[in-house]
Amino acid sequence: MAKVLGMRCRECGEEVPPGPVHVCELCFGPLEVVLNWEEIGPKVTREKIQAGPPSMWRYWDLLPVEGQPTVGKNVGWTPLVKAKNLGKVLGLNNLYIKNDAVNHPTLSFKDRVVACALTKAREFGYDTVACASTGNLANSVAAHAAEGGFKSYIFIPNDLEQGKVLGTLIYGANVLSVTGNYDEVNRLCAEAGGKYGWAFVNINLRPFYGDGSKSFGYEIAEQLGWKAPDHVIVPCAGGSLVSKIYKGLNEMHKVGLIDGVPTKMYAAQAKGCSPITTAIKTESEVFRPQKPNTIAKSIAIGNPADGYMAMDTVRRSGGWADDVTDEEVIDGIRLLGRTEGIFCETAGGVTVSVAKKLAEQGRFGADDTVVIAITGNGLKTQEAVVGRLGQTVGIQPNLASLDAALSTEALLASTR
Ligand SMILES: *Cc1c(COP(=O)(O)O)cnc(C)c1O
Ligand SMILES: [Zn+2]
Repeated sequence: MAKVLGMRCRECGEEVPPGPVHVCELCFGPLEVVLNWEEIGPKVTREKIQAGPPSMWRYWDLLPVEGQPTVGKNVGWTPLVKAKNLGKVLGLNNLYIKNDAVNHPTLSFKDRVVACALTKAREFGYDTVACASTGNLANSVAAHAAEGGFKSYIFIPNDLEQGKVLGTLIYGANVLSVTGNYDEVNRLCAEAGGKYGWAFVNINLRPFYGDGSKSFGYEIAEQLGWKAPDHVIVPCAGGSLVSKIYKGLNEMHKVGLIDGVPTKMYAAQAKGCSPITTAIKTESEVFRPQKPNTIAKSIAIGNPADGYMAMDTVRRSGGWADDVTDEEVIDGIRLLGRTEGIFCETAGGVTVSVAKKLAEQGRFGADDTVVIAITGNGLKTQEAVVGRLGQTVGIQPNLASLDAALSTEALLASTR
């Protein structure tokens, strides 16, 4: 029996056979993958997962692919770091960082969604893959296309950080830099998808792409000793990750891998692009698209494809949302670096600063298990912190010069 039974519309419930489709033909609602739980349920056990590979594919039974992974075999199984020092600052005794800044191979959580989507693209018989991206997805699709021998077309807004652009070109992808913001790039891609018949990982393959994110949640629970955390704070762009972490935890409960899901989910955005957090904070039923203006470019999506799903997830779980200024984004990056020795990108700065705000609002108990989702690496967004981290101290190669430097305030200040 196939693992994927079909695709179901989240709005009207219409079901269609499995395929590279993402919208319902009846109501234009988003389609979701329907897995064959009767077959899968009895097969998954903690022991089987623990005997699996040290990658997201240890959860193969729960992911929407039929055969073995053909692309991205080493993605995932990133560290869950106990953050003692940052915990002290936030007044939390059980704070953790789920660190996808060191995900293989392109240093962001997007490797999870791409491994799943490109394995699926191969199953569907595609030889060309494409995406609309704010940067990290571009890096990951380009890298995995190279690995898997696909032709690739990557569409990005023309104002991305240098690290994100170089980190796409290096893999030999065709990179199309579009004069416009992400939402304009995405609209173009929706039109191009119909015309060229490529596998657009975040458009026609979106249901499979999204399910790759479930592994972020599976790993957190396994790494906590088969237990769902009390709170997870997640940076939101299109709004997929926050919902899929929650979906993943609930699936683990459904098949008996964990005892329950007390988890509250929190959405984090930058004030300069906050359609999801604004809707949640104002308890609005609809969300208003925005024109992004923030240094947190990787999560700057003004019209999020899964915005409603994100809003619904946060509400159902009993969580909340908040947003921070660009200044606070930089503070968050520095705080995580200074306390935990982890260099995250701007999205991480958003998440750390939002976590701090939520802690100050008294939303977490001191002994609650709190997980901050760090989704991307700081080396890719150096522009954000250039000139903001103090100075190096220049000295001559002799002890006298070192002695003089050590006695000055400048050095003390820069190492503080
Ligand atoms: C894409 C991205 C996100 C958010 O992803 P969505 O699933 O679209 O909400 C978060 N952090 C980083 C670094 C990303 O690149
Ligand atoms: Zn429908």
